[in-house]
Formats: sequence, structure tokens, C-alpha cells
Amino acid sequence: QTFSETGLKPEILKSLEKMGFETPTPIQAETIPYILESTNDLVALAQTGTGKTAAFGLPVLNKIEPGQKKIQSIVLCPTRELCLQITGDIERFSTNLPITVVPVYGGEPIYRQIGALKKGCEMVVGTPGRVNDLINREKLDLSNVRFLILDEADEMLKMGFKDEMDAILAQTPAMKQTLLFSATMPPDIASMTGRYMNTPHKISV
Ligand code: AMP
Repeated sequence: QTFSETGLKPEILKSLEKMGFETPTPIQAETIPYILESTNDLVALAQTGTGKTAAFGLPVLNKIEPGQKKIQSIVLCPTRELCLQITGDIERFSTNLPITVVPVYGGEPIYRQIGALKKGCEMVVGTPGRVNDLINREKLDLSNVRFLILDEADEMLKMGFKDEMDAILAQTPAMKQTLLFSATMPPDIASMTGRYMNTPHKISV
């Protein structure tokens, strides 16, 4: 299977070609067609380095309406490093589309991130503490979110972000597609999928 057989837009395929991505990794081969076709929630058991970012980033970019300047998708992840890495990857996947991605994370002055959000974007990638802070300051509006991604969900719980995640989730519309990625499936992740998701489809690689 090649990327062009997955049904991704030509603009995205062009970026992948430029990046030297030829064949989908096993997780991408499962998630890309599934997310493109379905509005169901998804739980994917996957380690880092398996191509997770493209596994959710490519189909979500494909489904976002470009040029809207409304936050249609938010990715929550545990660390600043991962936040910047995901943002960089998504920006490279979407170079040929009018889609803006804004990273928000702790440890940097919040006013810069507020400024970036004010200009408008289609996608936000953030760590739970800073995302929650921005919501409380009414600088981050999640009422148009249609795709919510929880990346390294087990790590976010380990780092004590459960309350922030609950608060953020409560700010998103009920009608959305939730995609949860985790390297492990401890009981607290299983209970989270019960709380946040509607009979999710499960994938493990
Ligand atoms: P990730 O698990 O998303 O951090 O990806 C691990 C590494 O593999 C990153 O450097 C990606 O750029 C790269 N990568 C992901 N998917 C592919 C692919 N289908 N073909 C080639 N490289 C890939």
C-alpha cells in the first residue's frame, strides 16, 4: 500500500513526497483509512517511533476545513518537546494547505501564545496545564473542535494531568471524534476511554 491509495488530498501527498514518506507504517495503514472514513472514536495502542504523529495528523488535516481560522482540532500531549515536535510535523504535512497550527505549552510567556491564538488557527497542539490556563483566561475557544487527539495519554495521566484533561474535555462539543493514543493500557486509561469516548474502535500494533 502507498500513501496515494489511502485517499489523502493531493496537497498532503505532495508534502509527504517531499518529506520522503513513501509507505505508511503499520499503525498509519490502519488509522489513516479508518479515520478518513469514520466519525467513530478510536483508541490506538502504539509506542513512540511508530509513526503516531502522521497516523492521526494526516487524516485529521485531511478532514479539517482549510482557511477557516477556527480551532477545529486540538491535540493534547504531555511535554513541551513533544508539543513542538508534533507541531513541526503537522506544519510540514500541511505546507500546501492554508492551515495554521499553534503550539501552546508551559515554560514560555503566555502572552506570546495568546498573540498567536488571536491571529486565528485551525489546529492547536498543547500541554494540558497551559491549555487549561488559556481556557480559563478565555483566550482559547474550543467550541468549534471536531477532532480531539490525546497523544501519549498514559504519560499525561502519569504526570498528573487528569483534572486538567477532564476540564478541557468538558469545554469541547459533545459531537466530535476523539482519538486516543497510548503506549500502555493501564486501568486508568481504560476508565478514561469509558468516560470520554463512545464505543471506540480499537487498534493495536
Ligand atoms: P513518530 O512516531 O510520529 O514520532 O515518528 C517517528 C519517525 O518516523 C519520525 O521521524 C517521522 O518523521 C518518521 N516517519 C513517520 N511515518 C513515516 C513514514 N510513513 N515513512 C517514513 N518516515 C516516517
